[in-house]
Amino acid sequence: MKVDAVIRARITTWDPARPRASALAVHHGRVVAFDDGAEELARDAARREELDGFVFPGFHDAHCHTTAFGLGLSELDLSTPPVSDIEQLYRAVEERARSSSRGEWVVGSGYDQNKIGGRHPELHRLDEAGLGHPVWLKHTSGHMCVVNSAAAAHFVLPRTISGGRAVLDDGGNFTGLLEERAQSLVQQVVLPRSLDTLAAAIGSAHERYLSEGVTSVCDAGVAGGWIGQSPVEAAAYQLARERGLLKVRTTLMISADALEELHGHRDDGLDGGLGLPGGLRTGLGDEWLRLGPVKIFSDGSLLGRTCWMEHGFDDDPGNTGYPQAPPEDLRRTIVGAHVAGWQVATHAIGDEAVRFVVDSYEEALSRKPRPDHRHRIEHCGITSDELLGRIARLGVVPVPQGRFVGEIGDGMLAALGPERSAKAYRLGSFLRAGTILPGSSDRPVVTGRPLLGIQDMVCRRTGSGVPFGPAEALTAEEALRAYSHGSACAEHAEPDRGSLELGQLADFVVLGEDPRLVAPGEIALIPVLGAFSGGVPAD
Ligand SMILES: [Zn+2]
Repeated sequence: MKVDAVIRARITTWDPARPRASALAVHHGRVVAFDDGAEELARDAARREELDGFVFPGFHDAHCHTTAFGLGLSELDLSTPPVSDIEQLYRAVEERARSSSRGEWVVGSGYDQNKIGGRHPELHRLDEAGLGHPVWLKHTSGHMCVVNSAAAAHFVLPRTISGGRAVLDDGGNFTGLLEERAQSLVQQVVLPRSLDTLAAAIGSAHERYLSEGVTSVCDAGVAGGWIGQSPVEAAAYQLARERGLLKVRTTLMISADALEELHGHRDDGLDGGLGLPGGLRTGLGDEWLRLGPVKIFSDGSLLGRTCWMEHGFDDDPGNTGYPQAPPEDLRRTIVGAHVAGWQVATHAIGDEAVRFVVDSYEEALSRKPRPDHRHRIEHCGITSDELLGRIARLGVVPVPQGRFVGEIGDGMLAALGPERSAKAYRLGSFLRAGTILPGSSDRPVVTGRPLLGIQDMVCRRTGSGVPFGPAEALTAEEALRAYSHGSACAEHAEPDRGSLELGQLADFVVLGEDPRLVAPGEIALIPVLGAFSGGVPAD
């Protein structure tokens, strides 16, 4: 047999039956032999490679926002660093306005009020800095934004907004701050993005991903809601693929807002079911682009103090956040998506939101049992021991971002206080309870480099060095496994990827060092020497 490639390296597989290998053979993108078997094929192989590095199954980000990240690469970067205070933010806006053509929008992203003095940018200061241009600045959480008067002139503020808020000052004047679903007021003006724009954004995001060793991702919410960039966002992925721009295997979570009520034969049991036109649902697609779970938002963000909490925030005791829709509507959406056969992925950060989602999954499963459903809770922010036990028993998959601790952990500590922080973004407890544990970044909310995320999962320290739920720390091996095998399992993709076994896709990352053998604080310094998809090096 003449195979496509034989690759020699120090290989870690995550296969308990063969944890290590010194060579693997690849044919038609999949692993066909290891070690002696691979060496026998080497002489006739079309390509032979000797890799001086440590090979691990490719990183898989189970929750990120590729189009938003790709678009953000050309927006004004307001993250901290480089922006260290609010005056610097205004100066950056003014600089961008000065170099923009007439009427062009100044769009910035990544600011975090917690890191620039505690206040959101103000409307009248953005009017000055904007020099007549409409200004739209997106919070790093994605859950809120601020606009100036020239931007607000494009929409009318409604009296009430379900699942969101346009923040007014004491005099009843609009401050420019739009929370949660109220963001759609400004989004409606600039959206939808064109397919060309989105396909290009996907291409630039994927190039960055590969340079960081990411070979698979799940885009956590496309085609609808305040998070979607266009109602035809999924088509942008197909276009990107046709143009050769789709270089990272992608699973799409479709926003629940894109679903419609389904009607079928009475034997189908679809009563109340929600789906896409034609009844398309989770699972359709191939090894490069597939339809994943449906994405539902139950609440907002912790940094923005909008997530749905049982008790008030430590630094804002009267505020318990709010659900993103009337709870009855949310429950109907969750149950309807389950009944129609979707894997359901619900965003829940506050403890009250997590409880609500667990209750809803329980109700959905009692109405229509489904083995191995792997319904997900995105973020699973604050989880009591009692809820953690129910999550494990129900077979629900938590999708927490260990990366948050290192980048926004100090802001989370201020919001939660020490006691609740110990139950926030848990990792080790989930593993010990026997759930699937994926690795993810929620990029562009925080920097999404997997080695940085893995370091945070091991170290559990905030940016200022304070321990954050240290009992939840993972070993480097557990974190690495989460970032490949765990993420694959979270989308039913483990028969194909997440480890290196016979018949699986030959997707792997080559690292300069073995993260298990360096000091935990130095994991993020390890160079990524290359990424291979289907045994082919990324170009
Ligand atoms: Zn997200």
